[in-house]
Amino acid sequence: MTQIEYALENKTTEEMKTVAKEENIDINVLRSKIAEGQIVIPANINHKNLNAIGIGKDLTIKVNANIGTSQSKSDLDNELLKLKTAVEAGADTMMDLSTSNDVEDIRNRIIENCTVPIGTVPIYQTLIEAGSVENLNIDAYLEVFEKHAKSGVDFATVHAGLTRAIFPLIKKRLMKCVSRGGSFLLAWMKYYQKENFLYENYDKILEIAKKYDVTISLGDGMRPGCIADATDEAQIHELKILGELAERTRQKGVQVMIEGPGHIPLNEIEKNMELEKKYCNNSPFYVLGPLPTDIATGYDHIACAIGGALAASKGADFLCYVTPKEHIGLPDIDDVREGVVVTKIAAHIADIAKGNKQAISRDNKMAHAREEINWQEMSECAIDKKKFLELRRQECEKNPDLKKADYCSMCGPFCVFKIYDEKES
Ligand code: SF4
Repeated sequence: MTQIEYALENKTTEEMKTVAKEENIDINVLRSKIAEGQIVIPANINHKNLNAIGIGKDLTIKVNANIGTSQSKSDLDNELLKLKTAVEAGADTMMDLSTSNDVEDIRNRIIENCTVPIGTVPIYQTLIEAGSVENLNIDAYLEVFEKHAKSGVDFATVHAGLTRAIFPLIKKRLMKCVSRGGSFLLAWMKYYQKENFLYENYDKILEIAKKYDVTISLGDGMRPGCIADATDEAQIHELKILGELAERTRQKGVQVMIEGPGHIPLNEIEKNMELEKKYCNNSPFYVLGPLPTDIATGYDHIACAIGGALAASKGADFLCYVTPKEHIGLPDIDDVREGVVVTKIAAHIADIAKGNKQAISRDNKMAHAREEINWQEMSECAIDKKKFLELRRQECEKNPDLKKADYCSMCGPFCVFKIYDEKES
């Protein structure tokens, strides 16, 4: 049985207990939200070393980090190091987006070493094995999907909402399609003049997902790739279909979340969150950004955190990280770490805005530690403890007097906490 089926029967799983404890949420409330489809716990029955997490309504905002090889760069050890780095930096989930020829081996090794939920996009491997878009077909896809499910993949992106009706709507776009999986399917539909085989055979995909409790992450092939295309007809048309598919998914006893934009100007982010909740019956929303500008290249992770913080404070449940290498190349280990930390900051800002008591309490502890100039306590509260300690070490190395001083090099003896101390007055 899947987590949603247990919830519908009012049964509590070990994974639900873990999530309730971690999030400090009543188990009955958690279970009813899973039953309603507002929360998912991606937990494949074959992912043995998994620490379960929940994604959705009233839970803390989660952060995903993408890793994986490309046809230009393939190094398993390096990908395993990225995995370790991302999880240590606080990634709540990982996606393996490998597209080199040894994807099968890479995925299995990543899952073996991954204690957080792992996601994949099975259409990538299907295309690699098929050799070309024209050779794609549903049987090849189902075979790959089952391999992923059997190996322990907890959530899988399925671009089933992209239908032939999209073609006239794409014509109006500045950038037609920026989703890799989406582009494969558009090319296939155009070549054969047939309907998307993932849409037509969606129930067959659900049968496999149900067998292993794979959470379906309904992919947004029409996510805008530039702010000029944001919230356009193509995007909303697909979103409505994703809402229908999400309902079918839950009825089959399979957990589901919705993937979302993309590039969205700041003033349209709230509206996008509302539309997803409206058309997809409050399904958890997994956003790939949003990037509120197209020109922050080299700093896209920062642009993404600005958009992500607003999106998550207005309804998004799950943020996919962006690294400084976005739109430039495959991220290296430092990029992965930077991307995770910056997106964790966005998630935490949103948790505060939503009134999460644990998040607010951590900030209050930091404020106390700062007032007391307690460096150790400050490091414990910081999102990136490692960077905090390193910067402090560098400061003390330059000026050893600072090690014992009750101020830092910013204001020196004019430290406000020394000049005005209520305890002494
Ligand atoms: S010296 Fe200035 S920056 Fe440093 S702890 Fe005191 S008030 Fe803060």
